[in-house]
Amino acid sequence: AAKQKGRGLWQEYNAELQAMERKRRGLELDLRQALAEDQFSLAFQPQIDFATGEPTGMEALLRWNHPEHGLVMPDEFIGLAEESGLLVAIGEWVANEAIRTAAKWERPLTIALNLSPVQIRSDGFVEVLTRAIAVSGIAPSRVELEITETALLHDTDENVRTLHRLRALGVRIALDDFGTGYSSLNYLRSFPFDTIKIDRCFVMDLLERPDCQAIIRATINLAQELDMETVAEGIETADQFEWLGEIGCTAGQGYYISRPIACGEQVEGVARRETTLQLDRFAPSAGG
Ligand code: C2E
Ligand code: MG
Ligand code: MG
Ligand code: MG
Repeated sequence: AAKQKGRGLWQEYNAELQAMERKRRGLELDLRQALAEDQFSLAFQPQIDFATGEPTGMEALLRWNHPEHGLVMPDEFIGLAEESGLLVAIGEWVANEAIRTAAKWERPLTIALNLSPVQIRSDGFVEVLTRAIAVSGIAPSRVELEITETALLHDTDENVRTLHRLRALGVRIALDDFGTGYSSLNYLRSFPFDTIKIDRCFVMDLLERPDCQAIIRATINLAQELDMETVAEGIETADQFEWLGEIGCTAGQGYYISRPIACGEQVEGVARRETTLQLDRFAPSAGG
């Protein structure tokens, strides 16, 4: 009987796996239509300067408005897009859209874009970015490219060369999700990043965990020594916000400050010159 039951569970598990695989393949097919049918949009999440309390930048976060499934978040489709080779074209759309939008803002906020390893390795990206910057007339120093540690893991020399070519355009380069990858410190040696983004996992437990406090403190000291700025990700409470400001973190980002916002008017509101960001002012509108 036990054997029978085990078999039943296995079949259930198998059926579930097959259903997941079907959804995955379905999404991959749909992804091919998504660009042509204009189903992508960007949400923007403000970053604020701890010293002044003013917004200094926005991170562009990709959203897929799927005709049947509704809003699909990047963690569900970026991997698929990478595997199927579609991310190069999607990334090109993101760069153009984000830079075009930011160029119209009244306040010269930084616009941060996420780059996947596939994009860095694709030859055309430097040219795409060059053109997007030229066409929009944005100051290159307002564009920041966020790269995760895993993006640098393979073909390191080649990738580092590309980072130097990108930097030569005058854009800033940030190391995203710092501390979560393999051999974090080594990456700081391989390229002179402008910004280190302290991963949300350290910020999340900050007040209960002295070890997280120690890691954040050490990261900020290290960044200062290396002449890099720090952005803390995933700030959700006033206490976390205050703690990070007091120890000298440059800028902060997270639900406590603002959720990613999709609506053009709200985004322009943040980018208006007189805006001082009221914490917790924005309703969730574009998905976490
Ligand atoms: P990321 O670059 O580390 O972006 C931060 C993620 O944390 C975003 O999730 C953001 O919505 C979320 N977040 C921000 N503040 C908080 C907070 O206070 N609490 C919590 N729990 N979460 C917070 P999102 O938009 O789902 O993006 C996930 C990841 O997908 C990004 O992580 C980035 O690696 C990737 N991604 C997003 N847009 C793009 C894109 O255009 N291109 C590429 N290649 N990757 C992208
Ligand atoms: Mg990022
Ligand atoms: Mg991050
Ligand atoms: Mg992340």
